[in-house]
Amino acid sequence: MARTHILGFPRIGARRELKFAQEAFWRGETSEAALREVAAGLRQRHWQLQAASGLDTVATGDFAWYDQMLSLTALLGVLPKRFGFDAAQLTLGQYFELARGNREQPAMEMTKWFDTNYHYLVPELDADSTFDGGPDWFFEEIEEALAQGLKARPVLIGPVTYLWLSKSHVSGFDRLTLLPKVTQAYRRILARLKARGIEWVQIDEPALCLDLGAAWLNAYDQAYAELAGVGPAILLATYFDTAADHAARAASLPVQGFHIDLVRAPQQLDAWRRVLPASAVLSAGVIDGRNIWRADLRRVLTTLSSLHAELGDRLWLAPSCSLLHVPVSLEHEVRLDAELKSWLAFATEKLGELSVLARALNHGEASVAAQLEASDAAQASRRNSGRVVNPRVQQRLAGVTAQMAERASPFTDRIERQREALQLPPLPTTTIGSFPQTSAIRQTRAAYKRGEIGALEYLQRIRGEIKLAVRKQEALGLDVLVHGEAERNDMVEYFGEQLCGYGFTENGWVQSYGSRCVKPPVIYGDVYRPEPMTVDTARYAQSLTDRPMKGMLTGPVTMLQWSFVRDDQPRATTARQLALAIRDEVCDLEHAGIRVIQIDEPALREGLPLRRADWNAYLDWAVNAFRLSAAGVADQTQIHTHMCYAEFNDILPAIAAMDADVITIETSRSAMELLEGFGDFDYPNEIGPGVYDIHSPRVPTVAAIERLLDRACEVIPPQRLWVNPDCGLKTRGWEETEAALANMVTAARALRSRLAGKGGLAWQRVERTEGVTAAPRHAAGCVDCATHAS
Ligand code: GLN
Ligand code: ZN
Repeated sequence: MARTHILGFPRIGARRELKFAQEAFWRGETSEAALREVAAGLRQRHWQLQAASGLDTVATGDFAWYDQMLSLTALLGVLPKRFGFDAAQLTLGQYFELARGNREQPAMEMTKWFDTNYHYLVPELDADSTFDGGPDWFFEEIEEALAQGLKARPVLIGPVTYLWLSKSHVSGFDRLTLLPKVTQAYRRILARLKARGIEWVQIDEPALCLDLGAAWLNAYDQAYAELAGVGPAILLATYFDTAADHAARAASLPVQGFHIDLVRAPQQLDAWRRVLPASAVLSAGVIDGRNIWRADLRRVLTTLSSLHAELGDRLWLAPSCSLLHVPVSLEHEVRLDAELKSWLAFATEKLGELSVLARALNHGEASVAAQLEASDAAQASRRNSGRVVNPRVQQRLAGVTAQMAERASPFTDRIERQREALQLPPLPTTTIGSFPQTSAIRQTRAAYKRGEIGALEYLQRIRGEIKLAVRKQEALGLDVLVHGEAERNDMVEYFGEQLCGYGFTENGWVQSYGSRCVKPPVIYGDVYRPEPMTVDTARYAQSLTDRPMKGMLTGPVTMLQWSFVRDDQPRATTARQLALAIRDEVCDLEHAGIRVIQIDEPALREGLPLRRADWNAYLDWAVNAFRLSAAGVADQTQIHTHMCYAEFNDILPAIAAMDADVITIETSRSAMELLEGFGDFDYPNEIGPGVYDIHSPRVPTVAAIERLLDRACEVIPPQRLWVNPDCGLKTRGWEETEAALANMVTAARALRSRLAGKGGLAWQRVERTEGVTAAPRHAAGCVDCATHAS
């Protein structure tokens, strides 16, 4: 009998109950008891769903008050010492302080969980870290499930992955020296599980899917040798990519089963089949835990039936990874059209799919004939729907030439024309796009959405905000202005709503970090742009000022990365469709007289595959998509891009290959490490390293900004340097924003005069006060864009 199980369920609740309970608790509006009650209710509901779907066990330990890594940090008792908390006595309030910071201490660092948009809190370790255990929450949740008559199958992130994801502030410290101490802590946890009669524990080791050196691979041998026999049977779970190259080693570990991701890496099955020990369980991750499409059950069964014949009881069926990365249930999607809805499966529906698969294997396909037919029908409807395939998009895609991704002239020529056209001072100042999203702005958008104000009233109010932002920027003396993005609540949703091929859910929330959730739009069909999206706004904003106004767009890779994407064509193809849609917008902005256009790509890095061997293929199509979106304009139109909050040093050649005229890039997080990278690599185009962190309301001093600029000048020729904050300012208030930008402008001016004194700026012009040249001619490269044929 094939068994079914899941690696984890989303914890936030179908209506984000956990979020609202957490936030009410943080605001001091509700008691801890009330928060605990909500959480217990959610756990119970989620376990009941699992049990009702015929899962043999329910996953416990997948709940976290804020984050699963932080919860493990608490369970191990290895809290950052700087907080001064006693791990054994850790309160829920203190746990949240670790996650969110307190008066004395900044929060623990947060970063992305592998290639997902989920963020975890990075453990802070050093040579004297101790792992003496913390609160008993993990065990209490198991008791809770047992008390409900359920069979609990706890989940733990494994010791090697835990260490791999942790950081030390002591440079050169080898985290692996802590392995013996960490495994001791796991031994104690496993022994307690065994004493409680738990039969299986799932230990997640997704790090096994990364490129690991010998030391880290050996750590697996060492750690699992220590864990052998002390606790329940161990299911070692890998996901997000293939672990085939380590299958033989993994198979020799003293564990009782393996979970592999057969959605992301179906090709690894053979390798595992060859090495699987005779008594070991293989958990086949066949339902997509990262995407929202209904599975093609018939197709999955073709893989599974031979596997089932071979393994019998030792075959388990599961989603590819934890369901944390998909929304909870389709049940609450009342407005989603029936056709699109029939193509989707969220976490709850995926439980149902697992149970159909198990019944088909265990009792024959006839026992689930109706369900399989429904699955076939959904597949056929998706394949044949006119909303999915659009011949015009296909045709245009087929006509894309390599030349369309090339600007007319090389950067060195373009920049001369841009300098001529834009008449900017050296070290031009600008911002990244958004200005404070005040409650007035949010209320305006909400009122419009609810139909309380009409389109005209909405337009007037938004224009009022744009005007305010422009006037403030002029008063501050910024050189290249932005309209402030008051009309956007989200940089992907705003464009997705105006593109064809995109769908939107009402409640398709996925946890991003802590109480923060995102609702990624769904790309279900060929993407195209039926009409201009930002041109009126940009034209209006430009009409208010004679300084260059940046057109502001989200790039194709970021649009892709922050959406649920089609699984019926390569991501590269979808990216290319998005690129063409954005290219049209770029061209239209140029025609409307916009001379600087920024195409944001903050998510370019996070799309990078986990294995280095796959990097180039990804970077090739991603960079090409960006270039295709940007290259339709004339030389004198300046293309900017923006990136933030990721490690960029290892992809600098790809960033350079994007060939944006200017990149504004966040640098505060990695201090100046990034700049050094740009210096060493000799980044060829213009660059604006962020000179202050927009996450803090603290106003940076002129001196601090000047220091950063001086350091930037050491690695980047000042002729190519821009001056800007790290990222958009939408989370800030106006008061601190104006103060910070005033200091930024002062610092830039001070440096300008110092450099001018040294004769350091060959093309230097006087501080500009007025006068712009006419809008540039349209580039010959923009051949595909019918609206521009003049
Ligand atoms: N233009 C966007 C803004 O300023 C960029 C946001 C981002 O980088 N995530 O808000
Ligand atoms: Zn940013």
